Amino acid sequence: MSEHVFKFLIGELKTVRIICRNDNCGAVMEVPLHRVSSRMDATVTCPACSKEIQHHRSDDKSLSEFADAILEIQKAKKFGIEFAIPIADQKSTQ
Ligand SMILES: [Zn+2]
Repeated sequence: MSEHVFKFLIGELKTVRIICRNDNCGAVMEVPLHRVSSRMDATVTCPACSKEIQHHRSDDKSLSEFADAILEIQKAKKFGIEFAIPIADQKSTQ
C-alpha cells in the first residue's frame, strides 16, 4: 500500500487559518502570519462573534509566539523545515 504525503516548506507558510473557539463559535478566519506576530501588537477579534482571540496585552501570547517562531525559522540559514501531512488514498475512501 502506498502512502501519499502533502509536503510544504515552512517558507511557503504566509497565511494561517484561525478557528474561533469562543463559546464554540467555530468561525474560521484567514490571517497573514505577520499580522499576528508580536511585532504588530495586534488584538485579534473574531469577525463572527466579535470576541477577542488574542489581546496584545494579555498573558496568553501563544498565537503571537507561534507566529514569531515561524517567522524566525523562515529566516534560518542553517536549516529548513518541511511539513509532511499524510493524505488519504482516494481509492481507499471511495
Ligand atoms: Zn467567534
